[in-house]
Amino acid sequence: MWDTHLHLDLLGDGAVAQLEVARDVGVTALVGIGVDPRRPARIAVPAGLTVGYAVGLHPQELPALSDDDVDVAMRALDVRVREPDIVAVGECGLDGRKGIGDDDTALARQRRVFAAHLDVAAREGLPVVLHGVRRDAAMLEVLDAHTAVCGPLVGCVWHGYSGSKDTARAAVARGVIISIGFMALEPRARRLREAIPSLPDDGFVLETDAPPLAPARLAEVAAAVAALRGQSVEHVKDMSSKTAARLFSRHPAAR
Ligand SMILES: [Zn+2]
Repeated sequence: MWDTHLHLDLLGDGAVAQLEVARDVGVTALVGIGVDPRRPARIAVPAGLTVGYAVGLHPQELPALSDDDVDVAMRALDVRVREPDIVAVGECGLDGRKGIGDDDTALARQRRVFAAHLDVAAREGLPVVLHGVRRDAAMLEVLDAHTAVCGPLVGCVWHGYSGSKDTARAAVARGVIISIGFMALEPRARRLREAIPSLPDDGFVLETDAPPLAPARLAEVAAAVAALRGQSVEHVKDMSSKTAARLFSRHPAAR
């Protein structure tokens, strides 16, 4: 089973122990996500697990960065994206939360940085890991504008999806894979719970976005998704892993 989105470098001292527990409940492949290209997110993972990494500048990092900082980070992205264990560009996208992207200036800056990530991904033939919060329409708009000029990306995944069925349908129609995480464990996430059964079998992957959720809880996410879809857990694990391997084709577990 693939955990397509976690922050390995943030797991801290207990990282190896936590990953061993995850492996023992059936996790086999990890995609370690970066939030700033200047800080590699690599760690040594226990035997029995394979790992690939995504490199990108998270929109929530932007408010603390000057324009010069952003330039340096984006130049680091240009170099690091060619490292042999990089399997995706991201996480990147738009975030409309207060203090991050709730005004026009911040949004314009996020759009610019996001569009630059799409260009890098297209140039390198890598999939993109999207982070989209409260800016669903704008995010799809930036994607569409990119597709109109450069053609479709080799792959794209909307991480930690919590939106509606309609937005999920709009995303899937653009070839975007929906990544389901801990929100599936939240009984109050009504929109997401409606969206999950509507996804095609080959349209979703699983993630923990650990930490704070422990990587081993991917098994609970798989069980929750299976219950909502009325499918067996085995089927959900199998389908989501096949989709992940298709999406992250440069990952060692996909070869
Ligand atoms: Zn993340």
